[in-house]
Amino acid sequence: MSRWSLVYEGYDPDQEGLRETLCTLGNGYFATRGAATYSHADSTHYPGTYLAGGYNRLETEIAGRVIENEDLVNLPNWLPLTFRMEGDEAWFRLEDVEILSYRQKLDLRHGVLHRDVRFQDGGNRTFRLTTRRLVSMADPHLCAVEMTLEAEDWSGSVEIQSALDGTVVNSGVVRYQDLSNQHLHILETGHPDGETTFLKIETNQSELRIAQAARTQVHRDSSRIEPEREPFNDDGFVGQRFAVHVSPGQITTVEKVVSLFTSRDRAISECGLEAKEAVQNCGPFADLLRSQELSWQHLWDLFSIDIDREGEVEAERGSMILHLHVFHLLQTASPHTRDLDAGIPARGWHGEAYRGHIFWDELFIFPLLNLRLPKITRSLLLYRYRRLRRARAAAHEAGYRGAMFPWQSGSDGREETQRVHLNPRSGRWLPDNSRLQRHVNAAVAYNIWQYYQSTCDTEFMSFYGAEMILEIARFWSSIATYNRELDRYEILGVMGPDEYHDAYPDSGRPGLDNNAYTNVMAAWVILRAFDTLRLLPDDRAQKLRAELNLTDQELEEWEAISSKMRICFHDEGIISQFQGYGELQEFDWKGYRDRYGDIQRLDRILEAEDDTPNRYQVSKQTDVLMLFYLFPAQELEQLFEHLGYEFDADLIPRNVEYYLNRTSHGSTLSRVVHSWVLARSDRMQSCRLFDEALESDIADVQGGTTSEGIHLGALAGTVDIVQRGYTGLQTRDEVLYFNPCLPHEYSRVSLCFRYRAHFLCVEADHERLVVSAGPSSEEPIQVGLDGVVHRLCAGETREFKLQDLQQQLS
Ligand code: BGC
Repeated sequence: MSRWSLVYEGYDPDQEGLRETLCTLGNGYFATRGAATYSHADSTHYPGTYLAGGYNRLETEIAGRVIENEDLVNLPNWLPLTFRMEGDEAWFRLEDVEILSYRQKLDLRHGVLHRDVRFQDGGNRTFRLTTRRLVSMADPHLCAVEMTLEAEDWSGSVEIQSALDGTVVNSGVVRYQDLSNQHLHILETGHPDGETTFLKIETNQSELRIAQAARTQVHRDSSRIEPEREPFNDDGFVGQRFAVHVSPGQITTVEKVVSLFTSRDRAISECGLEAKEAVQNCGPFADLLRSQELSWQHLWDLFSIDIDREGEVEAERGSMILHLHVFHLLQTASPHTRDLDAGIPARGWHGEAYRGHIFWDELFIFPLLNLRLPKITRSLLLYRYRRLRRARAAAHEAGYRGAMFPWQSGSDGREETQRVHLNPRSGRWLPDNSRLQRHVNAAVAYNIWQYYQSTCDTEFMSFYGAEMILEIARFWSSIATYNRELDRYEILGVMGPDEYHDAYPDSGRPGLDNNAYTNVMAAWVILRAFDTLRLLPDDRAQKLRAELNLTDQELEEWEAISSKMRICFHDEGIISQFQGYGELQEFDWKGYRDRYGDIQRLDRILEAEDDTPNRYQVSKQTDVLMLFYLFPAQELEQLFEHLGYEFDADLIPRNVEYYLNRTSHGSTLSRVVHSWVLARSDRMQSCRLFDEALESDIADVQGGTTSEGIHLGALAGTVDIVQRGYTGLQTRDEVLYFNPCLPHEYSRVSLCFRYRAHFLCVEADHERLVVSAGPSSEEPIQVGLDGVVHRLCAGETREFKLQDLQQQLS
């Protein structure tokens, strides 16, 4: 392991699913899991290739009703490249040979996956097999694998098979196995020239056409050879086979370069034509590797971030995980995303969990993009804008005004949350009320606002952002109801981020009343809607108001709602997660921990016991505490004051302690938020939670979920803890503020980012903060620290001493 490589020594079939996810390669346009080229879907391996936004819907009859799910489609597998020795029936399988050595390395700096295996087969023949693979960040339509085979003690003939597999189905998530999974319909297969294999398919509902062409070339040592090829097509498993002679000391190299185009691509005539031409015109593997290294180098220049701690091994591991997290973020959304109509999926394009859907997790992801490649955020926000029509229709259908974005979003912005979900513990299919998480709308508005704060992109705000914010504000004002007795507005029948609570115990009605997070966010959105109208050029504001028919009277109503939204409290100063939370039973944490060990998914445990978390003060993840995560204390204080509630200095620590003791961390997002909110009050505990959050995927802390896809919100969230949490980075009032506060365990953080067209690099340890600005012709910026604002010119480096501040905190 180094700071830049994820390395696995030895083959472990039980870990293979996890490794495949973590070794996924992608470029924002498509991604392919790190399954070996000689593997196929079985209980150990799961090769999967997914297109950003490549969805298809299928119906299934389940639990007595017909349901429809929209899946992220597993596309034809472009990987198959395998071999068998002369006289062998079966193609190579790791399971059939004695493994002498096995090493797998994901090179994060260059985006290349390496495998190096030495083995002895049943005939006592020893071989070395290496592969290198990439999904091009330089050309989003290309990917390639290079395989070398070296016989150490044998001469003879080896048959090679290179194929495209159109027979794949979606079977990557065991919980979904009762659901329909055949999405592909084969349109065309062929062998356009001796070296090339071609496959074109169509998804059977969304009619998305996908074409792949694979060019296979062979070298003995460094010379090209032209073996005789035998094309084949086994019902959509299409490719070619050929024999090569191997002998000790000679290296046989097979290069497979594959192109992938779809009917949704721009600037093409027809996807099949493009796919064929792309491989015909493409250089060798070495060329692709060179451009891959360059593209990644350029991305890493922008996304440079590192962290140091005591102990070389621990420091390397921490730093590598941080790089791994950025790597997977950039493989999910990259500069290529800008040309696509795709959102950012909660589980990456790395597996089939949550079907590639887009949730509120964007909230945890955008802060990294905003400070480096805000054009990607813009494109992801436009994904929402294009679905505004649907969101309006959804609000209307539910009896509200404005726009109501779905909890889970896919192709067209319809609500994609499943109607029923399976509890694997009890085997029961249960109603899924999670769609009542209307707070996703606040996240959309919050993200637009933050994007604008860091870019000042008035054009985006004028033509897209403002309309969404206003329509979301309108939705909040229409879902809010007036309680005359209290002279307060309420939001009834919704769910907060904590998915364990979806109804009151013994109530037939789904949803909860006055979820504090939702209510505060609703008020905040309405306030920002007023700001939005003020910041637009007058002319545009007037036109937009006319187009949306936003009257003075409606704005007056908004004013009232935003200042009288209800927040419930209990136990003197505890913000009730929702009305009545304080009256729920306390939970026997110790008893359940003793009985079950891992109680992250208490919802499943309790349901299997015919009980429900709805009866207890238990949370899956942060809910109230999200407020302390999203807003600096000062801003929250103003917000509470605006709502007519007291906000004393003790409110934050009191609530953090209360809810931390009642949370099972059943979502990977939970530790990120807890670590963040404790960063300044309890550095030790915050650091412990940060370290645990870093392990979310690499150690698969949820015991099996990572093999179904990464947890992108948690991955990005940990990087953001380093970026903003530990440096105290904030952009407000034209000043770039810092307030570093590293945990004792970490000795240094460093990162680079963009601010107001300056490229800045920052380094902080426990004693000092160094900020350097790269060359630029832009005006100097203002940097604030410890109450003093300093000027920083392009090309200048400034160092600030932190001792006093650190002493105050410790
Ligand atoms: C969490 C949600 C999250 C979703 C997708 C769920 O387990 O409870 O907050 O949006 O996963 O990551």
